[in-house]
Amino acid sequence: MTDSADVCVVGAGAGGAVLAAELAEGGARVTLLEQGPAHDPDGFTARPPEMMAKLYRDAGQTATLGSPPILLPVGRGLGGTTLVNSGTCFRTPAHVLERWAREFALDLDEASLAPCFERVESALSVAEVAPDLAGENAAVARRGAERLGWSHGYLRRNARGCVGSGVCAFGCPTSAKQHTGITYIPRARAAGARIVTGADVKRVIVRSGRAVGVEAHVAGRGSVEVRAPVVALACGTIHTPVLLDRSRVPDPSGERGRNLSLHPATAAFALMDDVVDMARGVPQSFFVDEFAREGVMLEGVAGPPAYAAMALPLTGERHDAAMANYRHLAQFGLMVSDQSRGRVRTVGRHPVIRYDLCAADLARFRAGLGRLRELFEAAGAREVYLPLPAGVEPEHAQPGDLKLMAFHPLGTARADGRPGHGVTDGRLAVRGVRGLYLADGSVVPSALGVNPQLTIMALATRLADTLLDRSGTPSAPGARAGTVALANGHLNTKEVLCPS
Ligand SMILES: Cc1cc2nc3c(=O)[nH]c(=O)nc-3n(C[C@H](O)[C@H](O)[C@H](O)COP(=O)(O)OP(=O)(O)OC[C@H]3O[C@@H](n4cnc5c(N)ncnc54)[C@H](O)[C@@H]3O)c2cc1C
Repeated sequence: MTDSADVCVVGAGAGGAVLAAELAEGGARVTLLEQGPAHDPDGFTARPPEMMAKLYRDAGQTATLGSPPILLPVGRGLGGTTLVNSGTCFRTPAHVLERWAREFALDLDEASLAPCFERVESALSVAEVAPDLAGENAAVARRGAERLGWSHGYLRRNARGCVGSGVCAFGCPTSAKQHTGITYIPRARAAGARIVTGADVKRVIVRSGRAVGVEAHVAGRGSVEVRAPVVALACGTIHTPVLLDRSRVPDPSGERGRNLSLHPATAAFALMDDVVDMARGVPQSFFVDEFAREGVMLEGVAGPPAYAAMALPLTGERHDAAMANYRHLAQFGLMVSDQSRGRVRTVGRHPVIRYDLCAADLARFRAGLGRLRELFEAAGAREVYLPLPAGVEPEHAQPGDLKLMAFHPLGTARADGRPGHGVTDGRLAVRGVRGLYLADGSVVPSALGVNPQLTIMALATRLADTLLDRSGTPSAPGARAGTVALANGHLNTKEVLCPS
C-alpha cells in the first residue's frame, strides 16, 4: 500500500503530535505514523504493575549500560511519553538558552520563543497546582523548605480538572492530564491529518540526497509506504538516532547518538508522625530550587502502595515494617542537571544505551542526597530512608551505590547552528539530507535542569512555523493561518505543500 502526504510525521509524543497538529492546521496534508496504540482511558486501572506493562515501551524496563545502570522508561502510543509523565511544565530557563546561543550558535532566546510557549501552554491548560490539591506529601517538603529558608514553590502543570488521583505516571484515570494524545492529536485529526497507530516505521526513504517518504509495517495492513517530500521524525531521543541509522542517512557531523544527557534522578522516603497518604494529591506538585544553580533540583514524587513497595530502598523486615506504615511515608526526589554524556548505538535494529556518571555528577548526587535528608529532618521525619546501601553515607557514595532512574533523555541528534556541527542545524533540518527534520528530545542540545516536555513542544511549534513559512508572523495563540509555503530553500514550496 502507498499513501502520499505533504509531510509525514513519525511518532506521536511531545514533539510529533504538536508538529502534526500545527502543520495540519496550517493547511498541510499530514500523515502521522505512531508505533503504539491509541490507549483507552477506560482501561486505566491506576494499578502500577498493570499499567507499566500497557503504557510503557518494554513494560518500562528500558535501561542504560554503564556505571551505574539507570532505568530509563519511555511511553509508547498516542501521546508518547506525555501520556505517562508527571505533567510538570517548565519553560526553557533563560541561562540555558543563552548557553545554547553562545556554544551552539542557536538563534533562540526567551523573547523569540515566548509566543511558542504561550501557544503550547494554552493548548495544554498549564496552571500552578493549588496547595490543597498538592496533598500532604508536598506539605511535608514545604514545611522542611520553609524551616530551612530554601527557595521553593508549587509546580505548573498541564492538568485540567485534576482530582489528585496520585497516579500520573500510570495513566490518568480521569483524563485530567492534558497529554498530547488528547490535546494535539484530536486537533490534528480535526484539521484533516491522517493518524495511523500500530505503524512501526522501518526506514526513511532517501533518494538522491533527499527524503521522499518512509516505509512502515502497519498492524493488520502489512507494509505501507508513505510518500512525502518532507519527513519529520519524532520517535524520541533513544529511537530517532536508531531510525536514522537503520535508514543509512548520512551523518556528516559524526555526532549521531552521542551527547546523550539524562537528568538522572533518585528519591528518598521518610517516616512521619502524621498520616501523609502520599498517593492522595498530585505526586509531583512541589519543587525546591535552592540548589538548581549547582545542578541539583528537588521535585516531588509519590505513588500508591504498589509503587512504594517497588521504590522503597529497603529489603526484608525493614521493607515490611516501612510498608506497614505506608500511610505515614513521605517521598521526595532529586534530579541532577548532568554533565555526563552517554551514547545510543544501534545493535541489530535496536538501541543500546551507554552512560557512565562522571565525577562532577557523582558529587551532585552526594550533595543532593544530603540535602534530601536535611529537608525531611527539618520537616520532622522520624526516620529517613536514603537510596543507598546500609551503612553508606551520602558523602562516600560511589556510582555503584546509587539507585538511579532517568526520565528526560535528550541530545542524541543535537541541534547546532555552527557549520559542520550537530546532527541537525539551527532549524532542526538533518544535515546531509534534504527534506528531513527532527522534532523531539533528540535535538535539545544539553540538559535543561528542568523537565523538558514544554521545551520539546515549543521547538516543534517553531519548526511548524519554519515549515509553513510563518517565521515572519508572530506566533501568537490563534495565529494559525499562515502562508502555506516552505521556508526551506532546498525545496520547491508549491510542489511540496498544498495551499488549503
Ligand atoms: C515517568 C515519566 C515522568 C515524566 N514527567 C515529566 C514531567 O512531569 N514534565 C516533563 O516536562 N517531562 C516529563 N517527562 C519527560 C517527557 O514526557 C518527555 O521528555 C517527552 O515526552 C519526550 O518527547 P519526545 O517527542 O521526544 O518523545 P516521546 O514523547 O517519547 O514520543 C515518541 C513516540 O515515538 C514513537 N515511536 C518510536 N519509534 C517509532 C517508530 N519506529 N515508528 C513509529 N513510532 C515510533 C513512540 O512509540 C512514542 O510514542 C517524564 C517522563 C517519564 C518517563
